[in-house]
Amino acid sequence: MEHASAGSLASLGGETMGTRWSVRLIAPPRADLHALHARIQQALDRVVAQMSTWDDASDICRFRNAPAGTWWKLPEEFARVLECAIEVAGASDGAFDPTLGPLVDLWGFGSTGTPRRVPGADALEQARARSGWTRIQRRDAGRELLQPGGLQLDLSAIAKGFGVDLVAAQLRSLGIRAALVEVGGEIGGFGRKPDGDAWRVLVEATMADAAVPEMPARVLRLDDRAVATSGDRWHRFDQDGRWYAHTIDPRSGVPVEDAAASVTVVATSAMEADAWATALTVMGAAAGLEFARNRGMAARFVAADGTGGLRETMTGAFQSQLAA
Ligand code: AMP
Ligand code: MG
Repeated sequence: MEHASAGSLASLGGETMGTRWSVRLIAPPRADLHALHARIQQALDRVVAQMSTWDDASDICRFRNAPAGTWWKLPEEFARVLECAIEVAGASDGAFDPTLGPLVDLWGFGSTGTPRRVPGADALEQARARSGWTRIQRRDAGRELLQPGGLQLDLSAIAKGFGVDLVAAQLRSLGIRAALVEVGGEIGGFGRKPDGDAWRVLVEATMADAAVPEMPARVLRLDDRAVATSGDRWHRFDQDGRWYAHTIDPRSGVPVEDAAASVTVVATSAMEADAWATALTVMGAAAGLEFARNRGMAARFVAADGTGGLRETMTGAFQSQLAA
């Protein structure tokens, strides 16, 4: 069994949600790193077992297949994530929408193996009719969810962030005083490093097109804060000269046009940062920046500048999170 010496920095990692997780933590004397690793993996496995659209046995998939008119008891974590998803859906005027499962599948970004190409108008209409967060009905303080027929939740835009928060909470409850937790690029930091300073993370924005020069990386201080980034680098396809990214505009049912290369949000929870990064991607660099400014949100956009290069814009709240 591995043991860490007093206050030493330990690194753990593994796989989850089709990506990787990593944790850096200040391990107390005689910390059992194997046990910590197992607890972290268990927490993330719970998120997958409840919210993965890629696992037919998950709660979210079983809900999808439930008969119309049935009420479903939600596991605690699922209910918490859905609560936040509905909150962000309302506050973003529907830019974030946790019911886009049929559209995600239709455009080939889901687990159904549908080819990635522009769907026919009829299929698009059918998928749109099944979607829409106002179809969500809950009771019992949000612990029971109605399947009205054809409702297919997709929490992929928020679940990784929630995974970060869940792992951080787990570590705190195990007596860990400082850690930097990452799940698939979404990151949360609590406590202080051995040198007494807050955790620092690098925010990058590389374009899919290698010909476009990269933006300078930014360094953020994560003092009991979390950061999430939405980007289209890996999840997109092109057809007839247009790029289709995996973020869907709920108003049209079509992938966001001219999506920003990356949208980064800093918030008090990784779950909120993750959801808002997706919502602001739907709003776009111009409207999203204004929205974020008005709400005092910490957000950064990297988007095409119209002349083949990239332009970075950020709110004052984001600026103030940058390491000096
Ligand atoms: P993220 O990388 O966090 O922006 O999440 C992207 C994923 O969220 C997509 O692959 C879809 O599964 C799902 N998604 C796409 N569009 C939306 C949207 N407008 N609101 C919420 N989830 C979405
Ligand atoms: Mg997101």
